[in-house]
Amino acid sequence: MTRRCRIPNCTRNAAPHRLICWTHKNRLYRNQDPHLKLRNITHPEDIPPVVEDRLPDHGLTITDRRTAARQLTARGATPEEIAELIGVTPRTIYRWRAQDRARHRQAA
Ligand SMILES: [Zn+2]
Repeated sequence: MTRRCRIPNCTRNAAPHRLICWTHKNRLYRNQDPHLKLRNITHPEDIPPVVEDRLPDHGLTITDRRTAARQLTARGATPEEIAELIGVTPRTIYRWRAQDRARHRQAA
């Protein structure tokens, strides 16, 4: 039986022979505090578990959230699904999508 990560509110499974998941292990190692969120420092390696394995991570930086949301959108995930995975409201996803569309129009 796989253990759950010991960090409160984390829904991931603990890494083998560990009490916490890989994401939190990495975060702890980098920041010395798993709850510390450095909004301007992105952790690209935190995104694949969310996008590819659809594992919720509500501790992503704002930049990583938007990247994950874009990648999930490209893979056909619904705004509701994405919102749940990254811990924002579906409204936020719709807003980001609209902003991205506006930016693409400007670039074209
Ligand atoms: Zn965890």
